[in-house]
Amino acid sequence: MKNSNSTVLNGHPLDKDLEVALGRPVVTANDADCFTLSEATDGAGAGFGTVFGVILGTGVGGGLVVRGSLIQGPNAVAGEWGHDQLPWAVDSEMPGPACYCGRRGCIETFLSGPGMEADFTRETGRRATSREVIDGFRMGEPAATATTERYVSRLARGLASVINVLDPHVIVLGGGMSNIDELYDMVPEAWGEWVFSDTVATELRKALYGDSSGVRGAAWL
Ligand SMILES: [Zn+2]
Repeated sequence: MKNSNSTVLNGHPLDKDLEVALGRPVVTANDADCFTLSEATDGAGAGFGTVFGVILGTGVGGGLVVRGSLIQGPNAVAGEWGHDQLPWAVDSEMPGPACYCGRRGCIETFLSGPGMEADFTRETGRRATSREVIDGFRMGEPAATATTERYVSRLARGLASVINVLDPHVIVLGGGMSNIDELYDMVPEAWGEWVFSDTVATELRKALYGDSSGVRGAAWL
């Protein structure tokens, strides 16, 4: 295991330990990979050639499925965009919040649920849950609206960099923040500024199986 935010697991052969404990073969993939496999197989990404799956939850992860196959490269980090630095960062976003991985300004520190909440607190001095921020945005509250608009811009930039490298047919969002329905209009309206193409045909979709897709994907695996 590596890069696990359950850091106690890092450096240990969890799959081998489970095989010994269970007395049977075990296959493993991280939650974002399993999520993407589920959504690509029979969910929101079904029928698309290249599916990039994104988890926007307590952390930010991603996975890549091409023509039905989960892509796990030689480093087992395919799709891991959460600990890249936020692209096209403006001065106020640099060096960015500290991340558990040891660096600053990772995409995860802005786009996770706690990342949005920390952004609201930095700007207002007040605390609010991401749900309260979204409720405030829907009622037109200025600070909540500003936080939401920053979140949309950051998500659009993060996904634009993914589109520029992978050019997926569809991006499927999961995790708690994926329940913000406004994202599916606002982010594609914004990402064209950073995608290296005059028009962007990539679709942005909400996961069909929500929180169940992780375990569904593990079953498909
Ligand atoms: Zn990080």
